[in-house]
Amino acid sequence: MKSAARIAREVQSGETTATAELEASFAAISRRNGELNVFLHVDQEGARDQAAHIDARVARGEPVGALAGVPIAIKDNLCQIGVPTTCSSKILEGWRPPYNATVIDRLALAGAVCVGKTNLDEFAMGSSTENSAFGPTRNPLDPSRVPGGSSGGSAAAVAADMTPIALGSDTGGSIRQPAALCGIVGVKPTYGLVSRYGLIAFASSLDQVGPLAKTVLDSALLLEAIAGHDPRDSTSLPEPSPSLVAHVEDGVAGLRVALVHELVEGADPEVLEAVERATAALADAGATVVQLSIPEIRLALSAYYLIAPAEASSNLARFDGVRYGLRVDAKNVTAMMEATRTAGFGAEVKRRIMLGTYALSAGYYDAYYGQALKVRTHMIDAFARAYREADLLIGATTPSVAFAFGEKTTNPMAMYLSDVFTIPTNLAGEAAVSVPFGTGEGGLPIGVQLLGPGRSEARLLAAARVLEIADGRP
Ligand code: GLN
Repeated sequence: MKSAARIAREVQSGETTATAELEASFAAISRRNGELNVFLHVDQEGARDQAAHIDARVARGEPVGALAGVPIAIKDNLCQIGVPTTCSSKILEGWRPPYNATVIDRLALAGAVCVGKTNLDEFAMGSSTENSAFGPTRNPLDPSRVPGGSSGGSAAAVAADMTPIALGSDTGGSIRQPAALCGIVGVKPTYGLVSRYGLIAFASSLDQVGPLAKTVLDSALLLEAIAGHDPRDSTSLPEPSPSLVAHVEDGVAGLRVALVHELVEGADPEVLEAVERATAALADAGATVVQLSIPEIRLALSAYYLIAPAEASSNLARFDGVRYGLRVDAKNVTAMMEATRTAGFGAEVKRRIMLGTYALSAGYYDAYYGQALKVRTHMIDAFARAYREADLLIGATTPSVAFAFGEKTTNPMAMYLSDVFTIPTNLAGEAAVSVPFGTGEGGLPIGVQLLGPGRSEARLLAAARVLEIADGRP
């Protein structure tokens, strides 16, 4: 499939039409969606209208945006007016949002065409898309393996050439981890860079919306289109979208890169080897390389599994059978709410709500939630110290290549460990990119993670571009 950059250029010049590109995307979806279960809903009518609107503007000689006519897949936890939005949960089945997420409005302004809604782990809780109430998504590169999660559907849409780009959300790794497992690029932007208005909240102090794409340039294009201040999100950074596309070819000459011991510790040997080769490639391109240890990283997973469930237990209280989606009738209001939540939430969501409620309960608040917040502060300080010595950090995105279905479903801890390298950045509210670099067992892709301080996206994407070239994708 053509890149987003190429489609936009050709639509702008009249070489192709938004409608033709959309029909190509629909054809790719109908070829493999039955097998892979990537899209929960394809918005045929809405997308065709959007594409026709772009084509009409081009025909009239009116300006169209940087993503003109580019088909895009949307993770099904982002609200789009009138389009079913489920979070892959039975509790929201049949619900159609009465408003657009800010990112959906920004995509429309940029001329992108929203093709449909992609599968995820229920309420974005998981690392394999096996927690979806509507069946798992399969990895397009090997359908016996998971695509990662929770943005598994969005990653698979791009990897299967159904759309060149997709939106995901990353609370503890949900963009970077599936990007790594599907062999594509994924960006977790700085907290506050992209509006969360209309993203159905999981853990509000960690959630960020971001791009998944085949190429670094396409992720820069998409991130630039959706980023920038939004008065409707109180955590939104007070500045306009950064310039990213213009810096993609900046290279890494003169940058200090630190290979972080704790960001490869316990990874499979083939993953460690890929990270070492990627580090060498950055050195070849003119970066100075050092080794660094950030022991606080070892505490991140435990802190995350208190903070994220605590926030989730509060955020998910709104699904009460009164306001949205499912209602299971019972003899009084309390019984109705209990019956609705019992029937509507899956096992992992219930586990998180219980963990979070416990961590926040009066007798345990200081011991659990309070402690986790202290760890988070240490984490932020530790990264700040590291960024005095290095401009970028490098490590693995995931400990292994894509794993098989069922391999980790019986042991929640094993599943949680999939995100051991991605979670620390979320706790610090900083930026990170996963970029494919080499392959491992079964010829499956390995993702290398680049991390930077807040607002370092341009630098991260430029470094990711160096790795993309070194890995043979000029
Ligand atoms: N896998 C992690 C979790 O289950 C992260 C999910 C995410 O980033 N949404 O919480």
